[in-house]
Amino acid sequence: MAEKRYLFTPGPTPVPPEVLEAMSRPVIHHRSSDFRAIFERCLERLRDVYRTEGDVLLYTASGTGGMESALSNLTRPGDRVLVVSAGHFGERWAAMARTFGCEVDQLTYEWGESPAPDDLARRLSELGGAKVVFTTHSETSTGVVADVQALAATAKEAGALVVVDAVSSLGAVPLETDAWGLDSVISGSQKALMTPPGLATVSVSADAWATVQKGAASRYYFDWGQTKARQDAFDSAFTPAVSTVVGLDVALGLLLAEGLEQAFERHARLGRACRAGVKAMGLDLFSPDDDRSAVVTAINAPDGIDSGELVQTLRDRHGIVLAPGQGPLKGKIFRIGHIGYYDVFDITTALAGVELVLSELGADIERGVAITEALDAFEHTRV
Ligand code: PMP
Repeated sequence: MAEKRYLFTPGPTPVPPEVLEAMSRPVIHHRSSDFRAIFERCLERLRDVYRTEGDVLLYTASGTGGMESALSNLTRPGDRVLVVSAGHFGERWAAMARTFGCEVDQLTYEWGESPAPDDLARRLSELGGAKVVFTTHSETSTGVVADVQALAATAKEAGALVVVDAVSSLGAVPLETDAWGLDSVISGSQKALMTPPGLATVSVSADAWATVQKGAASRYYFDWGQTKARQDAFDSAFTPAVSTVVGLDVALGLLLAEGLEQAFERHARLGRACRAGVKAMGLDLFSPDDDRSAVVTAINAPDGIDSGELVQTLRDRHGIVLAPGQGPLKGKIFRIGHIGYYDVFDITTALAGVELVLSELGADIERGVAITEALDAFEHTRV
């Protein structure tokens, strides 16, 4: 049998057959009426998923491209910005802001900690404010989903713009762009939006538009003004990845047909199932044991076992692809993603693989209980 692969990473994620089918149709021209109708619907659906009446810009880029667009449109060299960082992707905001010449202050936490709004308020008052606060909703490297609503309220109170990396959270856990006052929210196609990699989505609030730097700026492709002007006519400034837009449109249709609230509940239950199974085996969670942690479950490797070896063995021997630890967590944790096109049997497959390989590697784990616990946690608990 051709080698079967199971993709259980927090991006890229599995793509539903309806989306794959739509993407396999003949390529259409981006300035044709065929494409315009799809583009218009896709943008409308994106606004629904973002829960915004404002603009959502679409870029052919990975999520990091969308993050870069926020920096290059909202800041100029010398601007004071504050980055809230508790892992790999928070650090990315800081590195990018430094690259753009901002005066970067960082509210830094240990990887795995959850940022606290009180700390943010204190830091902003010490600093005398900041132009922009950059935050990460779901810190994919640790499994922590931050309380962005509270962080944003604190930042807004101090007069800062709030920019949120929601690359791995949009469509999986609750996020309210308008109601929470988020000035720019960045996401990517390859996570909970159930589409292959290649598209970044970027919301822009009225306050953000008012701040966009005019005149000489280090941006061309990512110029928000130019993108909006063309998008408003359901056109695009440059050639978009048309087939991926076609796929995203179908995927967003599936997500909205399920219902956002239902999708959030499914993700919370998947997280519960995963954590229940992991604990039943006798493993320790690295990510928090709470319902907010519904994007990716991070697990400590048992003593004496390198998590990288576990991930590699699962992939090479069984075609099961999990994510290893990043940065200081390399070798120490492994991560099971459960965003997008997942149901509980994806969780049980991942758990069965982990159980098998860990015991082959000599770990002292309880076998034969994880799957029952996971199924029970999924079926019998209501969020
Ligand atoms: N932020 C977060 C939270 C992510 O999970 C990722 C991707 N793992 C990124 C940013 C970067 O996205 P991309 O790889 O699409 O540039």
